[in-house]
Amino acid sequence: MSTGTLFDKVWDAHTVSVLPSGQTQLFIGLHLIHEVTSPQAFAMLRERKLKVLFPDRTVATVDHIVPTDNLARPLADSIAEEMMQALEQNCQENGITFHKVGSGNQGIVHVIAPEQGLTQPGMTIACGDSHTATHGAFGAIAFGIGTSQVRDVLASQTLALAKLKVRKIEVNGNLKPGVYAKDVILHIIRKLGVKGGVGYAYEFAGSTFEQMSMEERMTVCNMAIEGGARCGYVNPDQVTFDYLKGRDFAPKGADWEKAVEWWNNIRSDADAVYDDVVIFDAATIAPTVTWGITPGQGIAVNETVPTPDEMPADERAIAEEAYQYMDLQPGKPMEGIKVDVCFIGSCTNGRISDLREAAKFAQGRHVANGIKAFVVPGSERVKKQAEAEGLHNIFVEAGFEWREPGCSMCLAMNPDKLQGRQLSASSSNRNFKGRQGSSSGRTLLMSPAMVVAAAITGQVTDVRELI
Ligand code: SF4
Repeated sequence: MSTGTLFDKVWDAHTVSVLPSGQTQLFIGLHLIHEVTSPQAFAMLRERKLKVLFPDRTVATVDHIVPTDNLARPLADSIAEEMMQALEQNCQENGITFHKVGSGNQGIVHVIAPEQGLTQPGMTIACGDSHTATHGAFGAIAFGIGTSQVRDVLASQTLALAKLKVRKIEVNGNLKPGVYAKDVILHIIRKLGVKGGVGYAYEFAGSTFEQMSMEERMTVCNMAIEGGARCGYVNPDQVTFDYLKGRDFAPKGADWEKAVEWWNNIRSDADAVYDDVVIFDAATIAPTVTWGITPGQGIAVNETVPTPDEMPADERAIAEEAYQYMDLQPGKPMEGIKVDVCFIGSCTNGRISDLREAAKFAQGRHVANGIKAFVVPGSERVKKQAEAEGLHNIFVEAGFEWREPGCSMCLAMNPDKLQGRQLSASSSNRNFKGRQGSSSGRTLLMSPAMVVAAAITGQVTDVRELI
């Protein structure tokens, strides 16, 4: 086994060959597919008369286009119905496990793989979705890929990739009350920029991440891509092993012991050399909210919208664009800005711990008049668990809608869309122009607890005021 960072060890262990281009042909241990990026890839395979090489290393679900209110088939949206049928057929023809709606295992691809124990330390994982970095929370190296790469993985179970540099991002200390994993990653992206991670894998290290649960680590790794990094990971530890033990696809018996030994070996060595190291103090991180049109345009909720002279020259043009699009004045506070829609869900913050935390703030309170607020569990398992704990009742009594699992208004490839210029307080991961389904709709990214605070007051609110 090679020494160095986890990234180097996992990369070396999965290297099939070095290609004439200088890229590595990397074996992919787990390929996750869904309805949006796979149909064309399967069509390309058919054209070339190729078969899926490792159907047992390929797992499918449906998430982006699934309505979260009415699941009756055929779906009202004929294109969505077509995509659903194409995936069903492709999986059936190729012997691929498909977690369809109603199976008890359906949900957002980055939620279901970890919860079933498919995602494990030391793996290479690929999926035709940008937020595949999520799986790095387990100490896996996970890449979001494009459609032609989905084809490549289906046909060869390998990817041609250039090796990345590794930046260690160390955060130390305890998070203050009201500050969550989401705030940590928004803070990191704010400080390092949305392009700061280009060419890098991010290793998240330090006591703050060590103290986080697996679901919190997933929130952090999920958004590594928003900081420009190709992937992000946390070294596996006892928290990882405790989460995985007993899950459907986790190794069992003697295999478990062997797996834990291997997982411990792939951790970055104490003397590993990094291409860059950045250190943050957890105590300096506040509840964070984005004000602009990139996830890097974030500030502490009690700060004011930055003025151009406060920012580096190369960020001013995108800031001007953001002021205009978001209709925000530089120098004005974010707190108190009226919102229209409050969305809790997505592969960043649609897990059971997110819903538990959000419910704590919703309990005994009520959504403000005129606010549309809804909660979308990340998977059927999350929904079932939340209902077993009575969380759905807390949300419904507080005036939130309780929905079926899916990507919902994260990307709005389904009926959940903003209307016109509506402003959304959202627990998702992207605040790009038009991201939530209206070409002029606006998004403020924040933690689920902050979304509840906004829903209760009807405006951007520091969640610490509700503690
Ligand atoms: S929740 Fe959003 S980011 Fe995550 S997989 Fe779905 S559309 Fe992509």
